[in-house]
Parts: sequence; structure tokens; C-alpha cells
Amino acid sequence: MLSTKVPDFDPFLVFDKSLIKRYDKAGPRYTSYPTAVQFSKSFSTGDYLLAIQKSNEGTPPKPLSLYFHIPFCATLCFYCACNKFITKRKEKAQEYLERLYLEIEMQGSLFNRNRQVEQLHLGGGTPTFLTSLQLEQLLQKVGQHFNLRHDDQRDFSIEIDPRTVDADYLQSLWDLGFNRISMGVQDFDPKVQQAVHRIQPRDETLALIQRARTTGFKSINTDLIYGLPLQTLESFSVTLDTIIEASPDRISLFNYAHLPDRFPPQQRIRAGDLPSPDEKLAILQLSVDKLNAAGYVYIGMDHFAKPGDELSLARHDGTLYRNFQGYSTHADCDLVGMGVTAIGQVDDCYAQNRRTLEDYYNAIDAGRLAVFKGYTLNLDDKIRRKVIENIMCYGRVDFPAIDTLFGIDFTDYFSLELEQLQTMQQDGLISITEGAIQVLPPGRLLLRNICMTFDRYLPQARQRAKFSRVI
Ligand code: SF4
Repeated sequence: MLSTKVPDFDPFLVFDKSLIKRYDKAGPRYTSYPTAVQFSKSFSTGDYLLAIQKSNEGTPPKPLSLYFHIPFCATLCFYCACNKFITKRKEKAQEYLERLYLEIEMQGSLFNRNRQVEQLHLGGGTPTFLTSLQLEQLLQKVGQHFNLRHDDQRDFSIEIDPRTVDADYLQSLWDLGFNRISMGVQDFDPKVQQAVHRIQPRDETLALIQRARTTGFKSINTDLIYGLPLQTLESFSVTLDTIIEASPDRISLFNYAHLPDRFPPQQRIRAGDLPSPDEKLAILQLSVDKLNAAGYVYIGMDHFAKPGDELSLARHDGTLYRNFQGYSTHADCDLVGMGVTAIGQVDDCYAQNRRTLEDYYNAIDAGRLAVFKGYTLNLDDKIRRKVIENIMCYGRVDFPAIDTLFGIDFTDYFSLELEQLQTMQQDGLISITEGAIQVLPPGRLLLRNICMTFDRYLPQARQRAKFSRVI
């Protein structure tokens, strides 16, 4: 594959308030292109099987990345926009795992055994809703049906909820082969935690980060959210200072998008408690300044990492990639999604599993895969996906690389888009030369605005889904 890496990039950001205000429009986050809004129910299990067959015939066939969705949470965070089921009944997890095991057997039998699993990720919901014994059994099952990589190059990660993980549990994750963790922090302020119904003592979280480091986890990520109710510039400044001192390898800084019509849990958040748009922007600016000053590299779209972290290195080497889990260093893998609502990406298609537990259980109990919709990319989709991926990962598109990869003339093919981008060029977000589009530091917080120019489905997608605003 041709490298489209940025030869000499600026790892930091310039925060231009007036530009950000002007470009603060709703749009997709581009964890895929086309986005999930385009997925269709006309995509069948047969289409998915065909894609697997084609992917097995690749020379050499791609390695695999596995995603498992664990949808349970013990309590509800009011800001939540994830697909989850709130329950305290642990037996629900066992019922679910029985079906997940059947899906693992079915999916595992479809992929050639010589295809090694380089990456494995458990997301949710709350994967640590499972007991350590349940996790052990799950990993055993996966190991029976897929060819798991066991050396240091494996990338096995899990999202943990610090409220459900103690020192023993953390140790058992390490013993099971997980070498990366990601934990939700959101905000250390007790008032904010109360307003979003996520009480998570600061000292416990910090102790867990420290213990994860001494245990040996090679990449620790923490999630923060700005724009939450009762958050102020001063309160979030304390959260930022605290997390910077804890020094995780990666920090994800997400924007809270208040869409209560789309995400019912958010109806419990009082709109009057939210920071004003100006205050929210000030919080973002403060965050960017503090993370820059602390030496974190801006990877793109919400993600910061230390310069020596693999995400930073991949951005530099041209091996960074973006998929449904965000940024990744495993561009060369086919992604197999398992569990309710999970999305996979195999060969040229996306495939999504059933969205309710009942539908998922019915499909699996009948001995069928639970795929119910998806999308097969055409050539134009693949070209646009590559362009959008380059913008998201490197802030740059080199026309000759795209021309060679797809046999097109970029400036002809995208003449309309290049014209539309003129305003962004005049505003200093990008520079367009004869051979490349380069995102400039003031445009780096507005990557998805730039990508939207290349999204041919955006007008119709906007009629079918409500997207969050850019900031
Ligand atoms: S934010 Fe995470 S832990 Fe909270 S309810 Fe949603 S999925 Fe569960």
C-alpha cells in the first residue's frame, strides 16, 4: 500500500476561536466512510459471507482484529450515547456470553486459521461488568476458534470502568493477555459527577492508573468529556491538571453533545446546567493549551498521545488508521465485530449485528449469524474513504498517491470539491497546492468539516440522522 504520510507535521494545535465558531456545524465523526447511516438492510448475511471468502483468498490474507461488544452497565451515566443495557443482575451477562460463544464458533469457522489475530478489543457498555472468571472463559473460547497472537506485538485492549475494577481484577486482565487499557474518567469534580450520575472517586481512579503502569500495561488511555453539566473553566482546569500529573499515555477529550431527543438518558441532564457555548469553547481552549504544554501530541479528532506512544509513532510513520473504535495502528487487518450491535469491516464491506438483545439472541439461537445490515463499498466510496482517512489521520492528502492507488486524476476527479475548499483555504484552515491538501494548525480542530466536503452522502444522511456539532 502506498504511504500517504505527512513528511514533516506540526504535532500541536492552534486554537482560533472565531474560526471554530464559524465552522461549528453538525457532522459525522468518520469512524467509517460511508458512515453507518448508509448501512442498508438489503445487505445480507450472504453478502457478508462472500466478503469473508474474498478476504480469505487475499495474497497474503490480512491478519484479523476482533471486537467484542459487552453491552451491560450497572448504572446509567446520564450523558451516555452508547448502546447498552442497564442491569445489576449479573446472570444477564452469562445468558449473553452463551450466545456470544456460539457466535465466536460460527465466525471463527469462516476465517482461515492461518489468519492471525493481531488486535483484540472489548468495548461496551462495560466489559468489566463481567467477572474475571467470565473474562477468562471468554478469552479461552476466542483462543479455541481464532489464531491469537501471543507475543509482545499483540494489541489486546479493554475498556475498564474504574468503579468496577480493583487491584486483583487488574492483575487478572494482565494475566489473561490484555496489554492496553482504556478507562473512563470524564471529570474529577464531584458536583459534575453527581450531575451526570457517575460517582467515581478521584483517588481510586488515580491509584488504578498508577497500578496499571506498574503492572506493565504498555498503553493507558483515559477519556475526558468537556461540556458536561456544572462544569466550569476552573473546575475542568483542576481535572486537566490532575490527569496530566497522572500521565497516561493517551488522553481522549470528547465533546459532550446534548441530543436528548436522540439519546433518552440525556433527558435527565438539565439544559440550564450546561456550560454556555462561550464557556465550553473556553474549556476546549484551556484543554488544548494544557495538553500541548504538557507535551501531548494531537493525533486528530479528540485524541492526544505522548510522543513515544504507538499512535504518535504511527502518525509519523504513515501507518495510522481510523475505524469504529477510533484511531488504530492496525490498518492491515480485517475487523470482525461480535456481539449485539457490533460492526465489522471485512474486505470491501461493513456488516452490523442486530441491535437488541432479543433479536441478537433469536438469530444466534436459530444457528444464524446476527448480521442485519451493512454496506458494500463501490470504487467511488473507496476513493473517498481513502481521502477522508488521510485527512483524519495525517491532516494531508497527497494527490499523486491517490492517483496511483486508484488510477484517477485527483484534480479532475475532485474538481468540485477543490472549488468548495477554496473558502477553507482563504480562512487559513488548509493550503492547497498542485499536489496536495495540507491541513494547517488552525484547521486541525476542524478535520471533520474538511472531510464533509468529500462525503457525497452527507445531504441525504443529514435527513436521516442528527449528528453532533463539531465542537
Ligand atoms: S457511559 Fe459507559 S459506563 Fe456509563 S452508561 Fe454509558 S456505556 Fe455504561
